Amino acid sequence: MKIFVPNQTGSDETRVAMVPAAAKKIASAIVELLVERQAGLLASHRDEAYAAAGCKIVGDEGWAEADVVLAVRAPSVEQIRQIRSGSVLIAMLSPHKNVELIGALAHQGVSAMAMEYLPRITRAQAMDTLSSQANIAGYKAVIMAAERSPKIFPMLMTAAGTLQAARVFVIGAGVAGLQAIATARRLGAIVTAYDVRPAVKEQVQSVGAKFLELPLETAGAQDSGGYAKELTPEQQAKQRELMAQAVRESDVVITTAAIPGKPAPKLIPAEVVKQMLPGSIIVDLAAETGGNCELTEPGQIVQKHGVTLIGITNVPATVPFHASQVYANNIANLLKLIVTKEGQVKIDTADEVIAGVLLCHGGQVVHPRMKELMAHA
Ligand code: NAD
Repeated sequence: MKIFVPNQTGSDETRVAMVPAAAKKIASAIVELLVERQAGLLASHRDEAYAAAGCKIVGDEGWAEADVVLAVRAPSVEQIRQIRSGSVLIAMLSPHKNVELIGALAHQGVSAMAMEYLPRITRAQAMDTLSSQANIAGYKAVIMAAERSPKIFPMLMTAAGTLQAARVFVIGAGVAGLQAIATARRLGAIVTAYDVRPAVKEQVQSVGAKFLELPLETAGAQDSGGYAKELTPEQQAKQRELMAQAVRESDVVITTAAIPGKPAPKLIPAEVVKQMLPGSIIVDLAAETGGNCELTEPGQIVQKHGVTLIGITNVPATVPFHASQVYANNIANLLKLIVTKEGQVKIDTADEVIAGVLLCHGGQVVHPRMKELMAHA
């Protein structure tokens, strides 16, 4: 059996789907790992390290030879054409953005698995790519802000006077938000956070931040899967108004608020950005789905009204070594469910985890969310 790891590095991607340490545990007499030349270079792994881990370094012929392709993102149409019918493709496929591509994969008889659709259940935690990448993004958001801030983060009492600690406000305290809080606290900032899910308050406090109490009715803001539900337009307007003061008083605002499958809620209006202290920073981790701030430009770092707005969309790719390490471990754990001891691919569609990620199989689109996306395309 052959597993192929393509080189997808380019202007916006630095990560690789398999790192040598994880590859070493997969490569065996019956499972051959083909790694495309320089696939891991930007994540600090030379071809020699893969070879030492038992992998074979190949060119792009790997696409056509593989039984399983392990990718970071969706491949191009040309690459997909080379994948053999009956093969498996595992990647962060961004199904909502790649409806046509998934259709092509189905047509070609490829079994495509989208890591983003992994169910957030205890058994699947070690495969949870959304969490592993969000964790890294939350950390890096703080570092990017600290690097650009005209202030230092910790309070310092010096002979030349006392320097006040920076004030950081984190909006949305899921995986990324909680890591941002913990990182900003480690740097010595005073951190406040807000989330619509009332259950988050204790988690926010446990990582050292103050929870911002807003007189906003959000008791029903969490669905059965633990995700936030979209607020009504009236609730959103009220939230914007109530949060404005906290935003104005902050040196750094890190926003991570997201609703699965929906555009990011707009929580910081342009008017409030105007009132922030010049030199303040907004890191908008929701930029990929439109951003939580009205002035965010997805993919860009811009200055508006003296405020720096960081809208980088692929933040985990700015920390490629560790982002690839955790991604590769997520993938390796999923592989255990689909590769038998005899080195055969076996897709058990009755398995909750497999059913969660499997978009198309046997020439058909099988995932209900994918079918819905296709119906509306
Ligand atoms: P996410 O990226 O979908 O959203 C980020 C955060 O934004 C969430 O905490 C959400 O409540 C918040 N949010 C949405 N609208 C908001 C608004 N208007 N104002 C303020 N905040 C808003 O979330 P995520 O980080 O992927 O995590 C979602 C949930 O899944 C969390 O409860 C997390 O603990 C849970 N989870 C469970 C597992 C598991 O295996 N059981 C694994 C990972 C995450």
